[in-house]
Amino acid sequence: MAGKKKPRFLLAVETSCDETSAAVLERGRILSNIILSQDEIHSPYGGVVPELASRQHIKSIDYVVSESLTQAGVGLGEMDLFAVTQGPGLIGSLLVGLTFAKGLAYYFKKPLIGVDHLQAHIEAPFLENDRIEFPVLALLVSGGHTSLYFLEKPLDYRLLGKTRDDAAGECLDKVAKFLKLGYPGGPVIERLARGGDSSCFHFSLPRMKTAGYDFSFSGLKTAALKIIREHGLSAEHPALRDFLASFEETVARALLENVHKALEEFRPASLILCGGVARNTRLRTRFSELAEGYRLPSYVPSPRLCTDNAGMVGALAWKKYQVSPVSSTDLDLDAYPR
Ligand code: AMP
Ligand code: MG
Repeated sequence: MAGKKKPRFLLAVETSCDETSAAVLERGRILSNIILSQDEIHSPYGGVVPELASRQHIKSIDYVVSESLTQAGVGLGEMDLFAVTQGPGLIGSLLVGLTFAKGLAYYFKKPLIGVDHLQAHIEAPFLENDRIEFPVLALLVSGGHTSLYFLEKPLDYRLLGKTRDDAAGECLDKVAKFLKLGYPGGPVIERLARGGDSSCFHFSLPRMKTAGYDFSFSGLKTAALKIIREHGLSAEHPALRDFLASFEETVARALLENVHKALEEFRPASLILCGGVARNTRLRTRFSELAEGYRLPSYVPSPRLCTDNAGMVGALAWKKYQVSPVSSTDLDLDAYPR
């Protein structure tokens, strides 16, 4: 439309699981990205309790959105676009963010863009690198998802495989819970495994019976629990460090096996590792070693952008808007848990 002001500021909201997050972006670049974690609330239970998560989002969302605007130095009335995670995630949690964002978009009469938060994770490294080459092979590893994507071009997501049972992060969290090491399990295991001998305990890698790129982590979890029982391992046991190093190494190997296979078939120009578990140093190292072996550039977001955050949601919404601009608030936008 002639004379119509080009959008500049976007406010994004993300509440898919246990982080309440809001971000302000200017032309697709992050000005602020506030992430309020609920780890302390869920810690006594050793996992995310959905009802507690949604109640906490209700308590935090107002503060998180205000803080994102304050840090960005921009007023709510200056926003040209609103963006929100539609799914997948915990339905109660998703609805808090979605309802809040709908309210804002409706009040200010601005477009609301719904985003898939798994696709948003893949967007995180683009915030820190302008020149990621396509086609891209992307491994997404989080507390609830483990998926491999191939992107021939931007916004063109082809899901090659996903976990048939537990996600990799869930597997780490459950083993840590069993050993009473604390929550979330991934960072605790990483800390306690440091300096351990990763060849000490042997785990056979899970094998899928069908061809393709699906993952499976429940067998690995069962194998870990069996070793723990057989060796009487506990938080105080002297062999704990070696066990955790071996377990962490096996999780990394199980993840990278599929990446390796897909590299041979799809011949991407670059590799992406993303999601909460991508914070793990051992996995980051193994991933870049694999990429170097193929002489391919690999991109892993800085740890803060690996966690669920509204910055990546806003970045994807901005890209989607450039391709297909919407002009009105879509109040029919619905949340989807899967
Ligand atoms: P997300 O679902 O993206 O919020 O990520 C949360 C998951 O990432 C949980 O399963 C955590 O245990 C895991 N995680 C976070 N930091 C690390 C780390 N340093 N090493 C391994 N896993 C981690
Ligand atoms: Mg989380």
